[in-house]
Amino acid sequence: MSDVATYRLLDGKQCSEAVRAEIASKAAAVTAQRGRAPHLAAVLVGNDGASRTYVESKVKACASVGFRSSLIELPASTTEAELLDLIAKLNGDRDLDGFIVQLPLPKHINEEKVTLAIDPSQDVDGFHPESLGRMVLGLPGFLPATPAGIVELLRHYGVPTAGKHCVVVGRSNIVGTPMSILMSRNTEPGNCTVTLTHSRTKDLTSITRQADILIVAIGKPEFITADMVKEGAVVVDVGIHRITDPTKKRGFRLVGDVKAQEVAPKSSWFSPVPGGVGPMTITSLLLNTLKAAQR
Ligand code: NDP
Repeated sequence: MSDVATYRLLDGKQCSEAVRAEIASKAAAVTAQRGRAPHLAAVLVGNDGASRTYVESKVKACASVGFRSSLIELPASTTEAELLDLIAKLNGDRDLDGFIVQLPLPKHINEEKVTLAIDPSQDVDGFHPESLGRMVLGLPGFLPATPAGIVELLRHYGVPTAGKHCVVVGRSNIVGTPMSILMSRNTEPGNCTVTLTHSRTKDLTSITRQADILIVAIGKPEFITADMVKEGAVVVDVGIHRITDPTKKRGFRLVGDVKAQEVAPKSSWFSPVPGGVGPMTITSLLLNTLKAAQR
């Protein structure tokens, strides 16, 4: 990064702290009113290290806002039928406000079937088609955590969005596609003119260079370089990757989908990796769980 900061930080840690303080006070009210704390369960299948880290941070975050949490760990050998059976039980568990099944799942389990099996009223990850349909129609419901977290980050820092050209790179069901919908809605933040790009997009650079707001969820380390970004753009980096780095004590460093050291100085606002979108994703999950508990 340049010595003189020419950009402002979209600081996901700071924003999360502020939002989590509000969640904690609302959670205390819910707990006092109904005599039990908001309760989130997380299902982890198998031993994937990254998934375990994510789930553990979610469980820890619950404690930080006064929620109860339950971690259900299943071996990698769990069959699809066994997992669906567990989901059916969780759907009917009145002691829970919501639950998530951490993705990715082992290859022999069909993620689509699992997502569809979750009762939309418990779907605090916001991945069920009913949740996504409600988002498209602007009806109340659970928003997918990462895009909702990005919207919250833009709102927290008062980044103007109306009338801006927002370019989203990546069209996954959990990030890029819902992101493009949220940014085009008639809400604030929102009201953008949105271009959604993907691996078949021709001349990506000519499109990203037109972006007033560039949101990158592509899953390729440091893919977006300075020449692909307009001077003064708002840049949100969703990607997260471990890159081997022998100079670091732990042997790796974290980078995003954007080459931060050259793109940040060109930006007006920039979300860092780590400490940008990541903490906001977990905060959105807490917000969805609170919403479920307030019903
Ligand atoms: P996916 O792999 O599901 O999707 C990647 C998207 O990028 C696809 O739509 C793909 O296009 C597109 N793409 C790939 N190559 C190119 C290219 N050369 N040009 C343009 N588009 C391209 O990824 P996710 O959305 O799940 O995740 C993206 C990144 O965000 C990952 O690094 C992930 O780890 C991170 N992530 C971070 C979260 C957080 O909380 N911080 C939460 C979720 C994800 P096509 O559809 O044509 O294949």
